[in-house]
Amino acid sequence: MALLEIRDLQTWFDTRAGVARAVDGVTLSVARGETVALVGESGSGKSVTACSVLRLIPRGSGRIVGGQVLFDGVDLLALPDAGIRAIRGNRIGMIFQEPLSALNPVLSIGHQIAEAIRLHRRVSEREAWARAVALLDQAQIPSAQRRVHDYPHQLSGGMRQRAMIAIALACEPDLLIADEPTTALDVTTQAQILDLLKALQTENGMGLLLITHDLGVVAEIADRAAVMYAGRVVEEGRVDALFAAPAHPYAEGLLASLTLEELAPGARLPEIPGTVPSLLDMPGGCAFAPRCAYAADVCRAQAPLLRQVGDSRRAACHAPLQAVQWAARPHARAQMMAREAA
Ligand code: ADP
Ligand code: MG
Repeated sequence: MALLEIRDLQTWFDTRAGVARAVDGVTLSVARGETVALVGESGSGKSVTACSVLRLIPRGSGRIVGGQVLFDGVDLLALPDAGIRAIRGNRIGMIFQEPLSALNPVLSIGHQIAEAIRLHRRVSEREAWARAVALLDQAQIPSAQRRVHDYPHQLSGGMRQRAMIAIALACEPDLLIADEPTTALDVTTQAQILDLLKALQTENGMGLLLITHDLGVVAEIADRAAVMYAGRVVEEGRVDALFAAPAHPYAEGLLASLTLEELAPGARLPEIPGTVPSLLDMPGGCAFAPRCAYAADVCRAQAPLLRQVGDSRRAACHAPLQAVQWAARPHARAQMMAREAA
């Protein structure tokens, strides 16, 4: 059984202009000890997916409309509020992009880590502080014994992100969700933080759901990746297979220009011509059809479901590229589409 299994998740927002289907049928899983990267352009629904797992969607404007989020077999969406609070920060840790907005500015980081521990564990204040120092040390913050008394503004961006990691790991979570944990940092610090996350993940055997738009990071640390487009996962599979021969035209656009060897940390998503459709006014068929060089009538009429393509990936495409055909594309693909249409 997967540690985390998101099934057909739908999270919508009520806006003045109408209902924005930010997440509209996301299916995704993370196994114990596995690193899964969630990639996609800005606005594709990555953060909303992550927040939905922990039920952190702001009440009022947003709502989880459908689907299941099975964590160790238990549907988090069906738990009472107390049930999800007991899991959040405990069995599931979360790291956000902007540590400054996630940390409390008027409490020392030691205080915040100790608080995170004491919320879920019956330990004395003293034990919690000792553990906070150990966690900062584990997060490679130098002079942890002294830095534990620092306030967030006294730390550099990289150190703040390490403090966030220490908080997220305070209760030794089974699953860590990291939403663009290194985006705000310089390249050297990014690399250090990722090495740290990777080391801690291996050490603790946690599942890691890593949201990033850095393809170098995906290539370096993820076992599997899921590519999101307009609120859906359009392709998901093992990273090596995905980079070698993407099956979905959108994934092809993102990944085809790069080889695994060429990818260094900092490799950003390439630009694909056209714009993401408005979530308020999604096209009836495949959301990528207006930008897809291969789109046929069926693509504009009917939204494709995520289905198995080959052994190591799934794609939501009416005519996914097969690895063998890939070498000869787009010629082979055009022929295949013509066959399908006939
Ligand atoms: P990203 O993939 O960049 O993390 P998000 O998951 O943050 O994207 O957002 C996906 C879409 O959800 C946004 O483009 C926006 O339209 C919508 N959205 C997110 N948060 C809100 C909100 N609080 N109110 C209205 N719409 C929102
Ligand atoms: Mg985001």
